[in-house]
Amino acid sequence: MLVSAKGMLDEAVKGHYAVGQFNINNLEWTKAILTAANNMNAPVILGVSGGAGKYMTGFKTVAAMVDAMLDTMNISVPVALHLDHGTYEQALDAIDAGFSSIMFDGSSLPFEENLEKTKYLVNLCAGKSLSLEAEVGAIGGEEDGVVGAGEVADPAECKTIADLGVSMLAAGIGNIHGVYPENWAGLQFDALKAIKEQVGDMPLVLHGGTGIPDDQIKKAIDLGVAKINVNTECQIVFAEATRKYIEAGKDQQGKGFDPRKLLAPGYDAIIDKVTEKIALFGSDNKADYKL
Ligand SMILES: [Zn+2]
Repeated sequence: MLVSAKGMLDEAVKGHYAVGQFNINNLEWTKAILTAANNMNAPVILGVSGGAGKYMTGFKTVAAMVDAMLDTMNISVPVALHLDHGTYEQALDAIDAGFSSIMFDGSSLPFEENLEKTKYLVNLCAGKSLSLEAEVGAIGGEEDGVVGAGEVADPAECKTIADLGVSMLAAGIGNIHGVYPENWAGLQFDALKAIKEQVGDMPLVLHGGTGIPDDQIKKAIDLGVAKINVNTECQIVFAEATRKYIEAGKDQQGKGFDPRKLLAPGYDAIIDKVTEKIALFGSDNKADYKL
């Protein structure tokens, strides 16, 4: 059964580790991430963006597939199905479809409107025992990759949103989505400390986990980051492994064109990457928090 991300993240704050959010795109992605998390006895969050949801024909399909896979794969670790960077409408749609966790990204709205909509969703999610992630300040993206530093959130705004009763808070601390530019300035730890001071035990979320050096990841966890989003990195290793298979001509040997064979190297590469990240984040053997 899917669970809210609140319990696993509150435990992560107490235990000074972070739970990984890995985004899914299809059945292979989902199966690989669930396999890795189960092998590592780690709680895990499956992220689904609006675009990925649309690709999979809608949030209803995603929720039904994930729910069934927890059963058919005998998954024993806590799993949350989480809307990633949802608009207000997508949030309502994902709640309706049976997601167990929602991110409402109102960062592009005027702060007052972000506040109002977040407030409404806090009540809605609380009534259904779902976790809710809010975002303060935009997180830099590939489109502004020429900028060496990502956005940094205002600590006072973070406190205002945290006090609404969200379960976790994404705040820009110089992190960027996608691949980091050469001239990236690194995570802004002073900003992270200032935000942490304002929001207390609220689990903080680090977006754009791909390409942040391991020592900076560990320091961010020490300073209160309890959820780290990884998306691009799984895409890169999947593409690399698939390219290698085709370049080696394996799709032309025997029945190497069978999709179950063609997609296997990429699938295995995702398992390896997720396993590596879970170990780095320290969430291995943390699945038994409910006991
Ligand atoms: Zn993000």
